[in-house]
This record gives sequence, C-alpha cells and structure tokens, in this order.
Amino acid sequence: MSPTPTTRLAPSPTGALHLGNARTFLVNWALARQRGWRIVLRIEDLDGPRIKPGAADSIVGTLAWLGIDWDQGPLIQSSEPGPAIDAMTRLAQAGLAYPCRLSRGQVESAASAPQAGAHEATFPAALRPPEAGRPCRFDPAAWPDAAWRFLTPPGEVGFVDRFAGPRSIDPGATIGDFIIWTRRGTPAYQLAVVVDDARQGVTHVVRADDLLDSAARQLLLYRALSLTPEPEHWHLPLVLGPDGRRLAKRHGDSRIDAYRTVGVPPSAVIGLIAHWCGLSPDGPEPMTSGEFLRRFDPDRLPRSTITFLPEHDQWLKSQAE
Ligand code: GLU
Repeated sequence: MSPTPTTRLAPSPTGALHLGNARTFLVNWALARQRGWRIVLRIEDLDGPRIKPGAADSIVGTLAWLGIDWDQGPLIQSSEPGPAIDAMTRLAQAGLAYPCRLSRGQVESAASAPQAGAHEATFPAALRPPEAGRPCRFDPAAWPDAAWRFLTPPGEVGFVDRFAGPRSIDPGATIGDFIIWTRRGTPAYQLAVVVDDARQGVTHVVRADDLLDSAARQLLLYRALSLTPEPEHWHLPLVLGPDGRRLAKRHGDSRIDAYRTVGVPPSAVIGLIAHWCGLSPDGPEPMTSGEFLRRFDPDRLPRSTITFLPEHDQWLKSQAE
C-alpha cells in the first residue's frame, strides 16, 4: 500500500517569520492543498543557542494569520529524543557513526578549501580516527565532549528534484563526514530531519534551495538506516535582498510581524508573495490565501532567485489599514 502523501512545514524558532520563509510555507501549503497531501507542522527547536524564547508561538500565530493551516501538530522536535537515539545506536553498530573530539577550528585548518557559505566545516577522510568504520556502542556519556560523525561513503548521490531538476552531489568530496549528533548531546539537523521525516510519514519535502546540498546527505542517511520511501524534493530559489544576499536586518525589517504591527493585512503579504510566484506579473495585488490557492500554479514559479526590492516594502506599507 502506498503511504498517504504527506508534507511538513518545518520552521526553526530562531526568530520571527520573514517574507522569505512565508513565501516557502505558502508555496508548500498550496502545493499540498491542491494535491491532497497531508500537512504536518513541526517546530525544529534543536538548534540550541540559536533558539529564541517565544519564537515558536510567534511563528505558529503568523502562519495562522496568513491563512495557512495544517493537519497535525505543532509537533515539537526536541520533545521525543528516543527515535534519534535509536537511529544513532543502529548507525554506530553498523560502523557508520563515530565520536570525534576535534574542534571546528582544528577541522577547518585541516580542510584544504573551506566551502563558501557552509554551516559546517568540510571534514576530510584523512581526519578520521583509526576506529572510524568499526562497529561501536553509541554512548554519548562515555564521550562527553565529542560530536558524532557519519562515515560518508565516496561517490555521487543522484536524485531528481521536482523543481530544481536532476542533481548529482558528492557529499564525501564536498562536506566529508558530517556531524549527526552534537557535542551538546542533541541530534544534529541532518539526522533529526531524516528521523522525523521518516517516522512522521513525510513523502514530499518542499523548502528553499539553500538546503539542496543537504538533501544528498539526508538521502545517505535514509539509505544507511534502510528507511523507505525516500521523500520527493522540491527546492525553491531563495528570496534575497537587492544586494543578492540572504534576507537580513540590513534589508529593512522583513518580518511578517513588523508589517502586521503597522496594520498591513495578510492579503497584502500574500499579494506580494503571489507576485513573486508569478501569479500577478504586472505587480502585487491584495489576495486572500484562498484566492492564492485557487490561482497557484507551480509551473509559473520563477526558476531564479527572487529579489525583495524597496518598492515591495513600500507597497506593503501602502496597504496598511
Ligand atoms: N528547520 C529548517 C529551517 O527552518 C528547515 C528544515 C527542512 O526543511 O529540512 O531552515
């Protein structure tokens, strides 16, 4: 029997939702509602120091204010550590995970060319300890200040992204043995996302293309853990500031709550996102989430990055009630 098609909205409560996140969630929601996929809302709160108190509630409130709904959740990622511990136990027993005490600085100085913009330093196979690859017991208490790494196999991981097209990525060459369990004693993003997607029945992953490279690492973990079915991916181009960099404070306040506070209605935010999604090419026009859903057509989504221009900000503010 094939599984119920299921997608997830997976915000990290590291700050309030901004226009770029809202674009991704609205597209994910519209794809799901048009195609009858179930939607799970999952709060990814494992990113220790970056988590902001109150951000999860604020994000859930903002999604609802925009008219986005879901069928299950919010599920809180940190509330159930058991499945990730089981996965680590299996990987360690299979010789595919090992503890590593090297600091980020030590790894960076050993890597020949750090990857531009990478969150994690590339870990070359030359740095593997001699015991890597041997079955071991996953026992973080015995290794108090170690992170655990995945023994990344050599070779390309191929997959067909439904939006970005066919991809072939070699995680062994580009990122090496990546971290799957942090020194803080929590599952790292790559492992947590795979374990949760699999157990929550996620079949469709829709997100921004800054995570395209991560998809290959996640597929390796699916295979190492014999998890099926592997999800189908849709990676969307990012929304950037006029300088071509990720949306940030220097581009003005693009948080949805900041617009909401000055009286901008949800229909204006959705209208701007609809314009970015190719639904109103001549310029933004106010639109409810229901109208967005009726008009949404993935074939009209732009293939290249979207630029948040000063005139977009001005238009949103001109819609304040
Ligand atoms: N929580 C991640 C983020 O907000 C998304 C993870 C994912 O979609 O796999 O960037």
